[in-house]
Amino acid sequence: MASQEIENLASALARLPGLGPRSARRAVLWLVKRRETALEQLLVAIGEVKDKLVECPVCGNIDTRAPCGICADHRRDARSICVVEDVSDLWALDRAKLFTGKYHVLGGRLSALDGVRPEDLTIGTLLERVREGGVDEIVLAMNATLEGQTTAHYIAERLEDLPVRVTQLAHGLPVGGELDYLDEGTLAQALRARRPVG
Ligand SMILES: [Zn+2]
Repeated sequence: MASQEIENLASALARLPGLGPRSARRAVLWLVKRRETALEQLLVAIGEVKDKLVECPVCGNIDTRAPCGICADHRRDARSICVVEDVSDLWALDRAKLFTGKYHVLGGRLSALDGVRPEDLTIGTLLERVREGGVDEIVLAMNATLEGQTTAHYIAERLEDLPVRVTQLAHGLPVGGELDYLDEGTLAQALRARRPVG
């Protein structure tokens, strides 16, 4: 029977995606055995991330600096902005290394069921970024879910009067598919085959 502190650590780890109670216990045991090395490194790494995490004021990405590494990278094409629902989608797309522009994180998707309205998302900031000029293309990279597509249509409508080309990911994306879970090949293909909206 483990002490309360060890139990607490195990149940905190068990809440991580992909870890259940059993693997959490194995991880705790592994860490306890390496308290001078791996546990210490993990503590330092978590502490540093926790202290420095900020939401990028430009795109909504989470990084340890603001503006984030992507917004600050001048080699990336600022004329093209890829709009995603969540930070996890941004990271998934960026791992695929095919999109060389910038991003915009909405912070969710429109949902009548969950009471998410346009003003709850960063659509206003997106429109501002386009109005400021220098943007040629908006790539809508919403999930292939009903709510994701409703959100994409709504944003496309709001962008209609602005001088910008609006495209969206080709839906070779599986129906109900969440970007975060797709392999990089599927993502890359969807991005390459993006097409005009409407
Ligand atoms: Zn950013």
